[in-house]
Amino acid sequence: MTDYSFDTQQVHAGAEPDPATGARQVPIYQTTAYVFKDADHAARLFGLQEVGYIYSRLTNPTISALAARVAALEGGVGAVCCSSGHAAQIMALFPLMGPGLNIVASTRLYGGTITQFSQTMKRFGWSCTFVDFDDVAAIEAAVDDNTRAIFCESISNPGGYVTDLDAVGAVAAKVGLPLIVDNTLASPYLCNPIQHGATLVVHSATKYLTGNGTVTGGVIIDSGTFDWSASGKFPSLSAPEPAYHGLCFHQALGAMAFTFHSIAVGLRDLGMTMNPQGAHYTLMGIETLSLRMQKHVANATAVAKWLEADPRIEAVTYAGLESSPWHDRVARICPKGAGALFTVAVKGGYEACVKLVNDLKLFSHVANLGDARSLIIHPASTTHRQLTEEQQIKAGAAPNMVRLSIGIEDAADLIADLDQALSAATA
Ligand SMILES: *Cc1c(COP(=O)(O)O)cnc(C)c1O
Repeated sequence: MTDYSFDTQQVHAGAEPDPATGARQVPIYQTTAYVFKDADHAARLFGLQEVGYIYSRLTNPTISALAARVAALEGGVGAVCCSSGHAAQIMALFPLMGPGLNIVASTRLYGGTITQFSQTMKRFGWSCTFVDFDDVAAIEAAVDDNTRAIFCESISNPGGYVTDLDAVGAVAAKVGLPLIVDNTLASPYLCNPIQHGATLVVHSATKYLTGNGTVTGGVIIDSGTFDWSASGKFPSLSAPEPAYHGLCFHQALGAMAFTFHSIAVGLRDLGMTMNPQGAHYTLMGIETLSLRMQKHVANATAVAKWLEADPRIEAVTYAGLESSPWHDRVARICPKGAGALFTVAVKGGYEACVKLVNDLKLFSHVANLGDARSLIIHPASTTHRQLTEEQQIKAGAAPNMVRLSIGIEDAADLIADLDQALSAATA
């Protein structure tokens, strides 16, 4: 399957005609458990000597098809689906972390991720140091003996910032730590972080992968390239795992160690499992991923250019614009486009932003992105309101900014809607 191009793989990877019925589309296996052939078969499945289905908290054929498809599109060796993007982040860190250990993460992240990393993680005894990922020396300086991962987003929410993954990947390789990249905003069509040095890629499948605002889901993809045994820092993967009768995952499963650990221990004990119906919707969405992303990018470019030229607008952060400081990075990191999410600074500040959001007719005011529909939100009063004003500004969510997620409608209709609402908001 890896010989085929992206457009072919997005339709076919991970899915054969159903072996039981010949069904051409991936069936929704709406079942909790699977009958063992005999007692020996059951024992072999539980011992990981044979791969198969036991219980849907661990694996399910519909969800396995989705995992295989996303792994193929990202160029990984394996993938694990989770109940949400936030679950995928915890699940990605779980085999690497323990009390007293830390990660180093970019200051430019999804607001919910900043809260998860700066607050909730502490309950596990984990911590996070946030640094500006444009300063690679600062990333290296923030790494200490207890650091177990480096984390960033390829294209970053909400500012449309593009991370120099090549530079960050080089730092991760130098310090011998896995680089985890949240590729939600780019999707595997626009960016393949593994090609730029990522060890693990995480997705909120809630967004572009599904593409129509119907599902909450997440995926972790493993590149299979990291040597979990070299440093002795990852005993869950390299040493006998007490939570799985002393199995040495890396020794026994090689490049699939992370994937199997995430299923056999992560999903088993944390239970952040995707549901088969959700996996089905995401599989449907992925069939048109490249087509949608092309239209998202074309529309975002048209709308961003129009806004940038408008006197009612102070600034537009879209990395696809010539004026963006990240424009050169787009050519290297995501050459097919800079995604479809960006922020706009509106003259008139906080008040004008609130009016604009209220006066738009076609754009929906929602806390989501990556939908076929165009969406708008005022981060400072919603998604980023848990952050301090300093954190808001660092995250690109200042009080005078609205965030647009440009959909796949007609660009002229989107521009007309923005035009009428801006007139009302700045009158
Ligand atoms: C939405 C989002 C998440 C969280 O995903 P959920 O599916 O909502 O849990 C994480 N990272 C990014 C970049 C996101 O856009």
